Formats: sequence, structure tokens, C-alpha cells
Amino acid sequence: IDPFPPRASLPRNMIENSMFEEEPDVVDLAKDSTFPALDPDEVVYEPRSSRLLVRGLGENDLDDEEEDYESSARLLGMSFMNRSSTRSPSASPYIRQAPPRSCSRPSARMLVVGVFILVLVTSMAMVLYFLPGCTFTKVCANSSTPMELVYPKSTTGEMFPWNELRLPASVRPVNYDLSLTPNLTSMTFTGRTIINMIIQHNTKRVVLHSSEINIIKATFQSVEVKVLEYKPWQQIAVSFPGDLKEGQVCVLTLDYTANLSHTYDGFYNSSYNDKTGAKRVLAATQFEPQAARKAFPCFDEPAFKATFLVRITREPEYIALSNMPKAKTTTLPSGMLEDEFEQTSVNMSTYLVAFIVANFTSITRNVSNTLVSVYSVPEKKEHTQYALDTASRLLQFYNTVFDIDYPLRKLDLVAIPDFLAGAMENWGLITFRETSLLVQNQSSLLDKQLIANVVAHELAHQWFGNLVTMRWWNDLWLSEGFATYWQYASLMTEFPQLYLERFKAMAKDSLNSSHPVSVSAQVTTPEQVSEMFDSITYEKGASLLLMLNSTLPDGQFRKGLLEYLRQYRGSNTVTDDLWNSITRESVSDMMRTWTLQKGFPLVTVSRKGGEVTLTQEHFLLSTDNTTHTSSLWHIPVTYVNDSCSSAPSCRQMFTLRNKTATLKVSESVKWLKLNYMNTGFYIVHYGDEGWTALIDALKTDVSTLTPHDRASLIHNIFSLSRLGRVSFRQVLSLLDYTTNETETAPLTEALTQLSSVYRLLDKRPELRLVARMKAYILGHFGPLMDSQDWGVEESVSSQERRSALLELACSLGRKNCTDQATALYEQWTNSNQTNRIPGDLQRVVFSVAAQSDSGWLSLLDTYRLTTYDSEKRKILQALASTQDPRRIVWILSTVLEGGIIHTQELPLVISTVSDGFAGHLFVWDFVKESWDRIIEKFPVGSYSIQSIVKSTTSQFSTQTHLEEVQGFFSSLKERGSQMRSVQEALETIRLNQHWMDRNLATLRDWL
Ligand SMILES: [Zn+2]
Repeated sequence: IDPFPPRASLPRNMIENSMFEEEPDVVDLAKDSTFPALDPDEVVYEPRSSRLLVRGLGENDLDDEEEDYESSARLLGMSFMNRSSTRSPSASPYIRQAPPRSCSRPSARMLVVGVFILVLVTSMAMVLYFLPGCTFTKVCANSSTPMELVYPKSTTGEMFPWNELRLPASVRPVNYDLSLTPNLTSMTFTGRTIINMIIQHNTKRVVLHSSEINIIKATFQSVEVKVLEYKPWQQIAVSFPGDLKEGQVCVLTLDYTANLSHTYDGFYNSSYNDKTGAKRVLAATQFEPQAARKAFPCFDEPAFKATFLVRITREPEYIALSNMPKAKTTTLPSGMLEDEFEQTSVNMSTYLVAFIVANFTSITRNVSNTLVSVYSVPEKKEHTQYALDTASRLLQFYNTVFDIDYPLRKLDLVAIPDFLAGAMENWGLITFRETSLLVQNQSSLLDKQLIANVVAHELAHQWFGNLVTMRWWNDLWLSEGFATYWQYASLMTEFPQLYLERFKAMAKDSLNSSHPVSVSAQVTTPEQVSEMFDSITYEKGASLLLMLNSTLPDGQFRKGLLEYLRQYRGSNTVTDDLWNSITRESVSDMMRTWTLQKGFPLVTVSRKGGEVTLTQEHFLLSTDNTTHTSSLWHIPVTYVNDSCSSAPSCRQMFTLRNKTATLKVSESVKWLKLNYMNTGFYIVHYGDEGWTALIDALKTDVSTLTPHDRASLIHNIFSLSRLGRVSFRQVLSLLDYTTNETETAPLTEALTQLSSVYRLLDKRPELRLVARMKAYILGHFGPLMDSQDWGVEESVSSQERRSALLELACSLGRKNCTDQATALYEQWTNSNQTNRIPGDLQRVVFSVAAQSDSGWLSLLDTYRLTTYDSEKRKILQALASTQDPRRIVWILSTVLEGGIIHTQELPLVISTVSDGFAGHLFVWDFVKESWDRIIEKFPVGSYSIQSIVKSTTSQFSTQTHLEEVQGFFSSLKERGSQMRSVQEALETIRLNQHWMDRNLATLRDWL
């Protein structure tokens, strides 16, 4: 999945949740070698052995004493159930609070806990006895006997025979036969799912997922059976009196009805207005991560791979698409048509299944042995050519570079009018937002680059993710980190004319609330799974792969990846499988230090003559300077010096494994620059003298370092100032050189950093300081801003640079900029929109126009009518950039409503409004008031919610706001209080507050 819709601002800070990471009981038990072996059926599909312990009992115990358990479940479970059944599945008190798991077999710590509980029990015996909690006595008083399992109660009141969020491994699906009949008038569908499965271990139950589905009839081996449902965990089960035997092949058939989902996941309905203004409806799917269960009952975990045969019944006016090519169409007596698709030729995870019923049209091309098609609504057919060209080219590239051909005979790319993510890599049927796939031929390369990026990402997934799949969501980076890495690497090779920004994950990873790329803590609830889709998984994952590639000898990285793909094709992996495929022992040792701990290192350089000392520490932003961690990384430190500094051959390498190390350089070396080309995931501090030498060198000759190295110096010095290691004066001193800077990477880095400081100050009552900051920015970059050409610009890099400069110039009200933008806008409207505005300038031109009454209203009209998606999105951003409070309120409520503006755009609108002075307080109120409606559309923990939380809170810097944000989120309880993004927001506000306390006075002096 590509959760980053084009041009939505990426969160610059991020995530975590130390609460979830610290599960000491579970972890300790895992290390306890005396813990008894578990029955295989008790083994939940999970990469970490620690997770097994949550359950703590063998199946035999259960089955032999089922009645006892049932009665105790009534006794104990009901009160638990009463609490939990009213909660959404994202709140799982059972997992976090369930007392039994801490009572299986004593470790030292458990004994202490046990004693403590005994004391509690004694002192509160009477109270406890009459509360459900009295079961502590029974369960824990003698902690060496197995505790009794508490089973939930199913909807019918009977005991549900399973008590884990993860499914048992005793049954494995082999093939699904799915028949679906959507009704696009009543917005409902009926379905029949026939699951062929094989029994892996003797068991008395079959447990699988199902959510928001009404099962009408179920048969097992042709005999009608009763299905039990436990809604909070989205599970259904069938129990049997006797054992299903290992090796037995069984067939479960389920007939059901359901509503098409009105959110963006499951089998959902979507609509758009065609060119006559008539409303058109369609139905599409979005299953990743856990919504396949909303469309058909299934074993909805990535490790349960199976084959699928899909049949869709539709009205003649629609077409149906699925992962595989259509095998045949049958006319039914009702006049409806049934399309049957070939059975999948590959084993795949449920989250990759997809089907669509719509009135789309397509263009196609044969590439090698694959028929590539791009589908869209009929009126946008002429916007599909670029996507087809790009997909064809990239398919050939990946076929070659991965040395395994794309395994299906067809590959469809489909633009869906209402789609939440950027795109989704369903095998053979990739779905996109219209803005991620459709572009006019005459659009700018910058607009096309967005399409190329998303297509490259999703195509890479057909190998990394689809062919080889992570075993569980804690290792999601094995799919998303790779797709992000290859998105970058494939475009570098195939489209060298594009300008590619490197991944940004450091701001998020420098907070205490970050998490390791490969998560060893619990990732179980839907909310925890959703939260894995963040920029640590995507962008830090990709950064680590980039670092590894640049560290290994030429060809070694690819060789390892090919081995990984060959060895695991069709199956599932954990992170260590990857390192083991790259068969150098040092790789595994090195990479584990990067994937298993959160954060990244700061390398400090100090020099005495020819002796250079490098010291590493955890780069952790905190308001409390006493917080230190002992984390160490194996850092592949690269460096260049003044005698040879920009060519790749200048690069020298040194692995820093310990806290400190020294290296020798010639005394005549004037300066060192570490992290050549910024391929390493670390920050460098050069000390006062080191920085001064580098700054002098840049002032003398900008090109002494590569643009990537210059950009990394700017990034690092801002980061060090945030950490309190360098003064803001030193930051400004480095920026002095930028008056001579003309390259895109360092310029955009400097502008991004400065405008984030500016926006922070802008939200405080510091009018004079804001004015001086503005004067500083314009003083430095004004001449460059004024010298920009407003005509058609060919190079993507120049387009990127020009739009960054002009957007900042116009937003700061530089007259030269606003005059030019106004003139272009007038030419465009006067020519009845035939006199086109260059694509990279549209956003700045529209945003300037949207500040006037007439401009805003005419843009709104254009927004309603235009079919050009890239233009439409820029108009929306312009509309949201208004400083008129009434319009801000209108646009926020309109987008939440859906209709004129699709609700999918809410995160983009919120982030745009938040950046403005007028909007940032309104938008926070809006989010508070509308929270429940927002989470109806966007799941708690999802990337959209992460983005909304971040953009509305990240510019607060006062105690009052800190308390308000804290108060609001803690009042949400299971509706969002536990999210990592909330931790991140609180941390960020504290850091902002701290930064202001430290820097305001000095800024007043310096600027
Ligand atoms: Zn992806």
C-alpha cells in the first residue's frame, strides 16, 4: 500500500508507544526455558516466541475439561465480556489486561508478582470475593498450576471456543471459492465462500475471521453446522464434538449477506459524477491490512496463503475485475451476468485479493507475457496513457532486475474515484487514487513524476510483499521498506530525468515515542496493525536498505536479494531470513543493530592533529537532558576530505562498532565530511572547529561538496540545534553560504527547515520576531526568488526548486511573486482556461488567487467541474489556504460531509489549513468536535489519523496547548488515546515549548 497520497505533507515527526513496547511479563516469560512446550494448536502464527505465552495453555487441557472451562467462563468471562463487548475491536482489554497470562509458570518476577497479589488478596479478600476480580484468588494463589482459560461469550451466549486475536495454526486454508453478487442500488451484497482446508494438527474447532457479515447458512463437509461469532475480535468458529484429524481435508461453505461498506475498506461503494453531472456508483475493495474479512469469511492473516477462485455477478452495464483474467461469462436467468475468473496461479495472502464492479474503460498493451491495462472512468480515458507507458517500462525493468518474471498473465492498474490510500498493490489488480494514476499528456514532468513514483512502488510490491510476504505485520517493513526503496532505485535507473527526494524518517525516529523497524513488541489489535503503516516502516526501512547497498561491495546487495526472492517465493518471512540470504555474517550483526532498536546514532567528530576520534550516541530529542540510552549501532561511517571530496572514488569507509574509535588522517587535511552522499542513517556533529572549517570551505567553493552532502549538512545542523548541541547562530552561519546555492536538494532542505521555524514562531504572539524572520528569509533567498522564470520549465529538478522558492515567497507575501502569480491567473481565466499555467506553478498561482473573494469563488467553480486530477488537487489546496475563517469552517465541514469534495481529502485539507495562521486554531477545534465522525471514516491508528493528529498539534508550543491536547486525547479512551501518534504529538509540543524557552531570547538578539 502506498499511504502517502501525492503532495500530502509527510509527517516530519513521528510515532510510537512505549506502553506497547514494554511488556515485561511477556518478554521475561519468553526467556524462561522452564516454560512447558505448547501444543501445536496453541501456536499462533507469530514470528516471536514471546507471543506464545499470552495464551499459556495446551489445547488438550481445554478439550478435556471443556465443561469446566465453560462454566468458569460464565463465571469469569461474562463480566469481562460485559466490559469488552461494548468496545470496538481496536480496544482489546483482553490482550493488555487479561490477568491469566501472567500466571502460567513462575519466573522470579512472576513469583514476586504472585506474592504481591497474595498480599492484595489477603488484605482485600472480602471485597475481591464479591467482585469478578476474585478469580485472581483462584487463578494465582497457586501459581504453579495452569491457570484456567477464560473464553469469551459468542453472540448467541454460548462459549466461543477461542480466546486469542491471532488464529490457531491447527487449520490451514488451501483454496477459496468466492461468489459475490453486489447490488449497487441497495448497496448490499450476497456471497458464498467455499473454503477448502487441511487440518494441520488434531483439533475440535475451526476458527476464522468475519466482520460485519450475516452468515445465513454454514455447512461443513455438506452437513449443516452452527457458526459461533465473537464480534469484538471479528472471529467466527465452528466446534466439533470429536477431533478433526491431522492431514484431513475439509470443506466449509458459508452463505452470507452484508452491506457494501460506507468507509474506505472492505467491499465498499464509491461514487462520482459523470460529465453530465449524473451520479455513478461502483464497488471496489481495499483489504490491507485486515478488511478482507468484511467481504468474505477467511483466515485473514498474511501467513495463511491460499489460492482463490472468484465469481462476480453483475448487471450488463458494468464490468467486473479481479486479480486473475476472466475465464468465462455466463448469462443468468435473471438477465444478470456472472463473470468467473481463473483460479489464482499463485498462493496469496487474503489482503491481496481484490475485485471491482464499475463502468470503467481501459487501454492495454502486451509486455513480455503480460497484458498490462489501465482502467478509469470513461471520461478520463485520455489521462491513462502515461500510466500505461510507465507501468510497461517498469514491469520489464523489475522482470530483469529481480530475475523472476511477474507471475500473472495480466496486470491491471485501476483509478478509483474514491480511494483512501495513494494506491494498493493487490496482485494483478492494483488500485489507485485517481490523482496517483491519471495525468494528462501535456502535464508537467513534476506531475508525471508523482504517478511514476506510485506505480514504481506498487509494481515492486508484486515481488516484495506479494511473492514474498512478511509473516506478520510487525515485519511490515519487509514489504513497505522494499517497495519504497525500489520505487527510488527503479526510477533512478529508468527515469534519470526525474528528481527524487530521498526518504525522510529521522525527525520521527528522533523521538522517544519511535519504534524499531522490525517490531518485537505486541502488534495484535487492529489499531496496532494500522499504526505499522508509518514512515518508520516505509522510509526508515528504505533508508536502511540504501545504507546497506552502499556499504556492500558492488553487486552483493542484489545478489542477496535475488537469493531471498528465490528461496522464499510463495511463502512468508521474518527479518532474519533477509539477513541470512545476504550471506555475510557481518551484515546480520550490523543490520540487527539498526532494525531491532529504535532511533539512530549521532556521530561526534573531534580531532587532534592527525588523530580523529569518533563517538556515537543515541540521537534522542528530549526536554530532559538526563535521558540517555546505551544503544550502540554498527555504523558504516564514510568520509571524504578537502583533498578529494566529491567524486565517489574519494569515499573512505570505517565501521564504528563501539562507543568510540579513532582513525588517522594526514595532519594536512583541513576538514572531513562524514556520511558521503548522505547514504547512512545517522547525523554528524563536527564540533565548533569542524563546522567552521566546513562553512569556510563552502563559502569559498560551493561545489567542493556534492549537493546531497550540502543538503545533509543543512539538515544535520538544524537537527543539532534542536538537540541543543549547536547554537542557532551557528545554524545561521552555515546558511550564509546558501546565497550562492542553486542546487535543488540543499535549497529545498534550507527552505523546509526555515519555514518550519517560521511557522512555529508565526503561531506565537511574536509579531516582531516573525517579521524579522521573514526579513531574514527574504534577505537570503529574495534575489533567487525574484530571478525565477515563470514560463515553461523543462527540468524536473528546476521545477521542484522553482516551486519551493515561489511557494515560500508568495506565502510570505513577496510582491514580485504575488504580482506574477496574479498575472498568470488572470491570463488563465481570461483565456477560458486554455492558456495553461505550468504544472509546477499551479499551486502557487491558485493559492495567491484564493486569497481574494472573487478568486476563491471562481476556483471553487473550477474545482466542481474540472476532470484534471492533478489540477483539482492543487485547487483544493489553494481553497484550503484561505485566511477567511468562514471559508475555513465551510471547507472543513464540506470535506467531512463528502460530495463536492471527497472525504478522502480530509487529511490534505486539514494539513493545509493547519499551516495557515487563521486556520490552525479552528482546525484543532474542528478535529475535537468531529472526532467520532472522523474515526468512522478513517480507522484509529491509520495513516490518515496519524497525519490529522500530527498536522493539528505539531505547531503548538505552549503549556496550555500541551494540557489541552493531553486532556482531549486521554478523554477518548479506546477511541484513540493509545495511539503512538498521540505520544508523538505530546512529545513534539514539549520539544517545541523547550525550543522556544531556549531560543526565543537569543533569536530576538540575532535576527
Ligand atoms: Zn506499499
